Amino acid sequence: MITAGHPFAPPAHEQAWIDTAVELAASFTETAGAYDESGELPLANLQALHRSGLDTALLPVEYGGSSLSYRSFGQIVRLLGAACPSTACIWVMHIGAAAGLVTRSAPDVARFYAAELIAGRRFCNALSEPTGGNLFLMPLQHAQPVPGGFALTGAKRFASGCEIADHFLINALVDDRATFFGLAADPSSMRYIPIWDTMGLRASRSQLIEFTGTLLRSDRRCPPSSGPHPNHIGAGLAFLSLGIADAALAALVSHARRRVIPTTGRPLADMQWLRFDAADVHSRLEAAGMYSHHMCWLADQNSPEFIPATMRAKQLANQIAVDAAQLAVRVGGASAGYLRSSPIERLFRDAQAGGLMAYSVEVCKDTIGASLLAE
Ligand SMILES: Cc1cc2nc3c(=O)[nH]c(=O)nc-3n(C[C@H](O)[C@H](O)[C@H](O)COP(=O)(O)OP(=O)(O)OC[C@H]3O[C@@H](n4cnc5c(N)ncnc54)[C@H](O)[C@@H]3O)c2cc1C
Repeated sequence: MITAGHPFAPPAHEQAWIDTAVELAASFTETAGAYDESGELPLANLQALHRSGLDTALLPVEYGGSSLSYRSFGQIVRLLGAACPSTACIWVMHIGAAAGLVTRSAPDVARFYAAELIAGRRFCNALSEPTGGNLFLMPLQHAQPVPGGFALTGAKRFASGCEIADHFLINALVDDRATFFGLAADPSSMRYIPIWDTMGLRASRSQLIEFTGTLLRSDRRCPPSSGPHPNHIGAGLAFLSLGIADAALAALVSHARRRVIPTTGRPLADMQWLRFDAADVHSRLEAAGMYSHHMCWLADQNSPEFIPATMRAKQLANQIAVDAAQLAVRVGGASAGYLRSSPIERLFRDAQAGGLMAYSVEVCKDTIGASLLAE
């Protein structure tokens, strides 16, 4: 874990926000299993996050926030990810969509979205398309010109928390160019199709949205981007996986200390195979964590290196989450790792999602490898 004073650690004056997240995470841990079981949205958690001031704090100062650093954001997502991964997933998307609309929009529209976030409205990303898969920034669906804007007929899928969203960050092709819009929820032209019966992150309720002539308003069209900039989704997703890895490692350590092997009379923790494997997972988690904090430091410097760093951090974090959860299942055995009543079993399922979410581990590796090997 990164220590205070380290250049990648959250700035000292933001410590109170980290303490707030620690407190919230403690209560979210209590209900994570029940939300997974019921598949209900963890609305109470999301409202508690808003009441704590964290949503607002992430906005830029000029829009009423505290310009909370990416270093703190990462640390907070990691704490939430360890406590309730579904809550962390929806929250990353909520902040990513809201901050994305504020930073991408013209100033008057940006002020509108900032005020909506401050007022507690909920935001969602509707970017992935059924045929587009991982390439969520390259929409394939065309929006057609109509009075007041462009009409979209089609679908977006896996939109975390969409059923409670007031506003969407959405993209579509306009004149063959990928274009972002802010879109208010419109029950007359949008329908949520309940596809989300999944292995993990069950309470994120990342449903399919069907659009029938939905108006993407011209005055909510985001101007063309001035280039790749740091963003909260790119930064946050690595930390969601790191949080799951933290929880899996903590669970396996706790079980290994308590479980006494009858033939030796000694705890499982004394077994050499476990010491080797635990050391391996722990060391790789430290390395993935340190690199992810470095990625956030780059974001705080507004460095163009942030983009390749998110890919490295994401694939390292996604992989260690899967490996830590896998080891936790082995250590827990059938009784503490495989039964539905075990938190390890949920962490194992939740750990699979990070590597599938865009950009997937394979897309990240392909991009990194291609750039490394290019002449
Ligand atoms: C829990 C969860 C929450 C999500 N939340 C949101 C959200 O809030 N908003 C949103 O818009 N989207 C969201 N998504 C969608 C997500 O970000 C991806 O866009 C989506 O999962 C990709 O589709 P697919 O999983 O069917 O994979 P596909 O893209 O079909 O991938 C299938 C396989 O092909 C590989 N592959 C695909 N393309 C390439 C390539 N170019 N190079 C190498 N390998 C490739 C993949 O790595 C994978 O192994 C969420 C997804 C999940 C799982």
